[in-house]
Amino acid sequence: MFFKKNSIETKTADEINKMRVAGRVVGEVLDKLSSIIKPGISTKDIDKFSEKYIRSKNMLPAFLGVEGVKYPFPATACVSVNDEVVHGVPSSSRILRSGDIVSVDVGAFYDGYYGDAAKTYPVGKVSDSALNLLRITELSLYESIKFALSGNRLGDISNAVQRTAENAGYSVVRDFVGHGIGRELHEDPPIPNFGQAGIGLKLTAGMVLAIEPMVNIGGYKVEMLDNDWTIATKDGSLSAHFEHTVAITENGNEILTKV
Ligand code: MG
Repeated sequence: MFFKKNSIETKTADEINKMRVAGRVVGEVLDKLSSIIKPGISTKDIDKFSEKYIRSKNMLPAFLGVEGVKYPFPATACVSVNDEVVHGVPSSSRILRSGDIVSVDVGAFYDGYYGDAAKTYPVGKVSDSALNLLRITELSLYESIKFALSGNRLGDISNAVQRTAENAGYSVVRDFVGHGIGRELHEDPPIPNFGQAGIGLKLTAGMVLAIEPMVNIGGYKVEMLDNDWTIATKDGSLSAHFEHTVAITENGNEILTKV
């Protein structure tokens, strides 16, 4: 994760309007992928669809070319299968099979602003334990969004994710976190998926946050694979990832990446 700013930039109503446009297209990509993802397609097929859709709306793929450890990210979508947590590199030789779960993270850039969201999908018929992981991870996202309110603390968001995941017997990834978003894809503040309620940065209207729980069935430890991008669980257990871009408003919040 590369934070390019050292302070938190709150957004004006005009800026949030632009982010809503970018966010909606990201939400539409993830929504449409629900009917595209099935056994037999490749992770590259998911990437191709995402890129085509974003470009058809005169937007740019946000992740293409993001700097990495060894080389820039080479695709529009991060597509991570089963024990892969985030930053999966799409490949035409990685074919999805019934029983897999696949996490897709997509971002769009529009008129100077970013939108970013992610969702994990079941492929064909998956196990009850995998389905429960998806359910709890999505729940942890929505529980945490309830705390994304002016006057609350950043720790309230982090704690809601951790509490929801750990109460179900799962663990949250420590090494990767959510982030502020706006004119940069990754802005301050970092948003851990673990922490103590009632502490940390005070949230105010105009902050826009990409909240993104990464939840593992097994332990929280992760490692980078040999391609120098894909992050997978160390113990090989399944991992799920859900994300929304959320604007904190005067009287609540607005999910900018929801369709
Ligand atoms: Mg993100």
